[in-house]
Formats: sequence, C-alpha cells, structure tokens
Amino acid sequence: MADGSLFVVSAPAGCGKDTILNELFKKTDMAGYAVSATTRSPREGEVNGVHYHFLTRAEFEGKIKNGEVLEYTDYCGNYYGTLRKSVEDVLSSGKHAILKIEVEGAMNIKKQFPEAVLVFILPPSWEVLEKRLRTRGTETEDKIIERTRQARAEVTFAKNYDYLIVNDDLDAAVDDLLSVLNAERLRCVNNDALLSKFADE
Ligand code: 5GP
Repeated sequence: MADGSLFVVSAPAGCGKDTILNELFKKTDMAGYAVSATTRSPREGEVNGVHYHFLTRAEFEGKIKNGEVLEYTDYCGNYYGTLRKSVEDVLSSGKHAILKIEVEGAMNIKKQFPEAVLVFILPPSWEVLEKRLRTRGTETEDKIIERTRQARAEVTFAKNYDYLIVNDDLDAAVDDLLSVLNAERLRCVNNDALLSKFADE
C-alpha cells in the first residue's frame, strides 16, 4: 500500500470547500480528515472531535507550548491549529491526511513539509462568489463586503499552491480532487513497498 501523503485544501468562504470534501469522503476511503483544534464556539450541528476539537484559549495555548500543534493562526479572533496527533492518526491508518486550513497555515505546512500537496479551490468568477455569499442570506452587507475582500486577499496566495480546482460544478470539482489524490497515490516516491517488491534480490 502507498504511504499516506499530506494534503492541504484551502479556499475562501463561499467556494464550497466543505461540500467538496464531504462528497470526496463519500467517494473514497483513501483519505481522512485531520481534525483541527479551534477556540471558536461550535456552530449548529458541529460535533467535538469530528468537525473540530473545540478548546478553550488556555487549552489551546497549552498544546502550543507542549509542541502538539504543527501550525496555528489567529483567524477572526480565534485560534485555529493543526494538531500533530490528528495528522499522525490519519497517516498511520494508511490514508492521505487532508488538512482544511487557511492560506497562512498552508504556507506554514509547506515550509515544514515540502512534500505536502497544496490544493486551492477557486470560484468560477468573482461575480459568482459574491452571489454565493449573498444567497447564504445570513450575512449583512458589511459582512459580505468584508468576506469578498478577504477572499480576494486569500486568492493572491493561490499561485503558491500545487493544484487549482475551479468549483463550477460540484461533481467535477470532487472528481478533480480525487484525481489529485490518485496521482499522488501513484507517485514513485510514495511507493517504496511496491518498488522493493520488485527490487533485485
Ligand atoms: P471556520 O470557522 O469557517 O470553520 O474556519 C475558518 C477558517 O479557518 C477556514 O478558512 C478554515 O479552513 C481555517 N482553518 C480551520 N482549521 C485550521 C487550522 O488548523 N489551521 C489553520 N491555519 N486554519 C484553519
């Protein structure tokens, strides 16, 4: 079996990142989600240990101090961070580990793990993204403008990623991500066991 790789998936709000990943996990069991920690409160339907490990600031800072956090950021007033253990748990089960993190965290992971594969999800256009943010209906005009500005800032990082996926059509975007996972699965560097099986005795 190929060794698991580290994947980072980033996208501005409104690009459908969560939906794409949920669909991906229905289609394949070759990847697992490395559950992040956060100090933000759970949203309706979010389960501790599944969507995030919900921690107090003191708990989070304790984990930073103990070296349990691979990277973290302060995003909109809350800590978000990748737990070393979450990543190790997925990788040791033989799966690719998927980190769903924002752009600075992604750059940080790439610095520490140059072999990590970075995937950025783009909207079809700025117009479509703004429309999607508006049709969520829950945001005020100020919030929509702020999120659009934030999205533009995040997209400036896209050129540093390995793969770009445009979420124009959900099924196509999920298939694109699956193709990236499959390509990684087939790479020589990820198949030591297979190579040694055919190595000269
Ligand atoms: P949300 O509050 O909407 O779940 O997440 C806000 C942002 O934080 C999203 O862009 C999400 O990808 C990012 N995020 C979630 N977990 C982590 C993490 O462990 N590290 C970093 N750097 N960003 C994260």
